[in-house]
Amino acid sequence: MGNFDLLKAKGVSRRDFMKLVAATTAALGLPELFVPQAASALEQALKKPPVIWLEGMDCTGCTESAIATLNPSPAELVLDMLSIRYHETIMAGSGQTSEEAYQSALKENFVLIVEGACPAKEEYDRFCMVGGKPFRTTLIEAARKAQAIIAIGSCASEGAGIPGACASGAVGVGEILRTAGISTPLINLPCCPVKPTTLIGTIVYYLTYHKAPPLDSQNRPLAFYGTLLHDNCPRRGHFENGEFLTDWNDPLQKQYCLMLKGCKGPQTYTDCAQVWWNDNANFCINAGSPCSGCSEKSFYKEFSPLYAKQEMFKLPGIGQINADTVGAVIGGAAAVGLGAHLIATAASGRLSSKDHDRKEDM
Ligand code: SF4
Ligand code: SF4
Repeated sequence: MGNFDLLKAKGVSRRDFMKLVAATTAALGLPELFVPQAASALEQALKKPPVIWLEGMDCTGCTESAIATLNPSPAELVLDMLSIRYHETIMAGSGQTSEEAYQSALKENFVLIVEGACPAKEEYDRFCMVGGKPFRTTLIEAARKAQAIIAIGSCASEGAGIPGACASGAVGVGEILRTAGISTPLINLPCCPVKPTTLIGTIVYYLTYHKAPPLDSQNRPLAFYGTLLHDNCPRRGHFENGEFLTDWNDPLQKQYCLMLKGCKGPQTYTDCAQVWWNDNANFCINAGSPCSGCSEKSFYKEFSPLYAKQEMFKLPGIGQINADTVGAVIGGAAAVGLGAHLIATAASGRLSSKDHDRKEDM
C-alpha cells in the first residue's frame, strides 16, 4: 500500500491532509511555497519513523489532549504515521508483550516522546516505578539511544506541573539529561496539557528538516512560544484603559482584564490567544478564566494559587510591581486619558515581548 493510500484507508482525504499541512506550516511561520515540500516529507514519514512514548509522573492528560482533537485527528497522524511502538495508555499489549515491543523499538532509530515528570534521583525513585523498574532508569536508557526527544506538557518539559510542586523530587526531562550527561536533542512543548497543534506542528517540522525548529532558551519552539500572551490578548484594550475585573457578578465587568483575578498573561509565552484550543473553539481568557501560565516553568510552583491575585506582579518592560499599584496607577491614568501602554513606554521605553530570548537552531 502506498504512503498516501494508508491515510486514505483511514478516511483522511488528500484535501484534509493538505489543509493540515498548510495550517501547520503557517503556524510555524513558513512561506506558502514550503507547503508541497512539507507534504512530501510528511508522506515519506508514512514510512513510519518509530516512536517510543514514555509516561512518568503524569495524569495522561497530554495523551488525552493529543488524541481528542482535529480533523484528521492526531490519533491518525500520530498513531498511524509515526508508528508508535510503545505507549502504556493506548497500546493493546501488556506485560511481557509490551516489554518486548519496547526492547525491539529501542534497537531502531526512534524518536522519544516523554509525557510526565521524572524523579530527580535514586532516593525519589519509589514515586515512579513502571513495570517494576524506576522510570528514571528507563528514561535514561531510552534518551541515550533516541535520535531526538520531544518532552510534552508542563511536567515533562520543566517538571513544572503538579508532581513538581509536591515533595516527590520530580523534574523535567532536561534536568535528567543534564545530570546523566546525555546530549540527545531535546524539544520542550509545555502547557497543561500539550496543545495538539503544537505537537503536530513540531513533528511536521522535525520530519521535514530532520532537526528541531528554532528554540528559545527553555528549548521551546519559538513558532509556538515566541509571543507574550498579554500582547495578543482580546482583553488587552481593557488593561490599557485600566478596566480590571474585580467582581465576577458584575455583568459590566464581564470582558474586563483579569489581572487582579490572577492572570499570568504578562509573564506567559504562548500562542493561546492566536491559536485557540479544541479546533479553535475557545481558550482560557476568552472563556472567562485567567491564564495560569501553564507554558512557563514557574507554573504551579511559583504561580499558585492559580486564580488569586499575585501580590508582586511582573510586567514586561517594567519588572516587579505590586498588583494593586498597577490597578490604581493605570486606572487613575486612564481617568485622565493616559493608556497603560503609554505609561509603560514612558517608564521603560517599551512594553512588548522583545526580551524573549532565542536559541540557535539545533
Ligand atoms: S493581564 Fe491577562 S486578561 Fe489582562 S490583558 Fe493581560 S493577558 Fe489579558
Ligand atoms: S491561556 Fe494560559 S493557562 Fe490557558 S492554556 Fe494558554 S498558557 Fe495555559
